[in-house]
Amino acid sequence: MKCRHCLNQLTLPLVDLGIMPPSNAYLSSELKFIAEAVYPLKVWVCQHCWLAQTEDFTRADELFTEDYAYFSSTSSSWLEHARQFSDDVIQKRQLRADNFVVEIASNDGYLLRNFVAAGIPCLGVEPTKATALVAQQSGIDVVSDFFGVSLAKLIKQQYSKADLIIANNVLAHVPDINDFVAGIADLLALDGVCSFEFPHLLNLLRYHQFDTIYHEHYSYLSIHSVRSILQKAGLRVWKVETLPTHGGSLRVWACLDNCSIEQEPSVQYMVNSEIEFGLTDVSVYQGFQSHVNQIATSLKTFLQQAKELGKLVVAYGAAAKGNTLLNYAGIQADDLPVVFDAAKSKQGQFLPGSHIPILPPEQLSAYQPDYVLILPWNIRDEVIQQLAGQLPEHCKFVTLIPELSII
Ligand SMILES: [Zn+2]
Repeated sequence: MKCRHCLNQLTLPLVDLGIMPPSNAYLSSELKFIAEAVYPLKVWVCQHCWLAQTEDFTRADELFTEDYAYFSSTSSSWLEHARQFSDDVIQKRQLRADNFVVEIASNDGYLLRNFVAAGIPCLGVEPTKATALVAQQSGIDVVSDFFGVSLAKLIKQQYSKADLIIANNVLAHVPDINDFVAGIADLLALDGVCSFEFPHLLNLLRYHQFDTIYHEHYSYLSIHSVRSILQKAGLRVWKVETLPTHGGSLRVWACLDNCSIEQEPSVQYMVNSEIEFGLTDVSVYQGFQSHVNQIATSLKTFLQQAKELGKLVVAYGAAAKGNTLLNYAGIQADDLPVVFDAAKSKQGQFLPGSHIPILPPEQLSAYQPDYVLILPWNIRDEVIQQLAGQLPEHCKFVTLIPELSII
């Protein structure tokens, strides 16, 4: 297999997670268990551009289907993150009614609603029809398609070039990353800026966040790899910010090569931090599989011991990342009978692979659990706060990343 960015031959494996179903392929009934599709999940690292990437087995249009269940608006901390981002960029770029903003992967309009409220013309791009429809119903203009060079040309013709392109938390999910970034370069106005947010590969390695690996997540990015990908398309990174989202993300700001914006010191600082951590060194990648195996074993042992002691463990948060953890550890509904989730679109369905039923959080207190395993550990504090008062006093919370922790 060749690197999907620079075409270098891939010879350095990061982790092999075996065979599992796509993390967002929730099952609507028990009848669907039999025909469940599974694919190998393995990540390689390119030793030329340092892009970590999944092996190609599945096509994007198979993974992001019309009933794709993720709605951004179900997390209140995520809505706040989006609001702050919008307010800041509107103020700093002095955006007004004669500007044009494009957001790629606009989901249910959780971010663009802030631009609509400020009277700034905007367009969302969202291939998932169910989420695009929610955005359209709230008055946001959305093109429901995959983004790349050809769609960029259409948007330019029908609207105009964009002063701001927001591609937050999408770059990692794009199979043809070169075409995607070339489309952004083509659509961007000469003095326009674009932002990319993505979970930082450095944190994935440092904190053993292997559950952020799933089929729909094609690339695991760093400033090294992103700078190389952007450069090829004629874009230049001028600022890097660190964010606490998704267990530690980067927000990279870029502009066209010939734009007058000067590079800020944060760019070189992050390049140096990655070199210091060892991201450009083979050895940092080689011990990852054994950390992953330790976490899977500790989850299995914990659930086994709880069962022997007659303790009830339930899970909270039917997040994609939970599916990677549960499926790699081989957990089934016998070990963990139920998962609670606030997203109505997931309630009544079953987790892919483990086939654990998903119920609304209102039913949690009736179970009187001894432990609640929080699968989306990145919003642990928010979950604990939400559930306070609904659980027995002796009930404890469990997370598995970076290692088993019971509080
Ligand atoms: Zn490469």
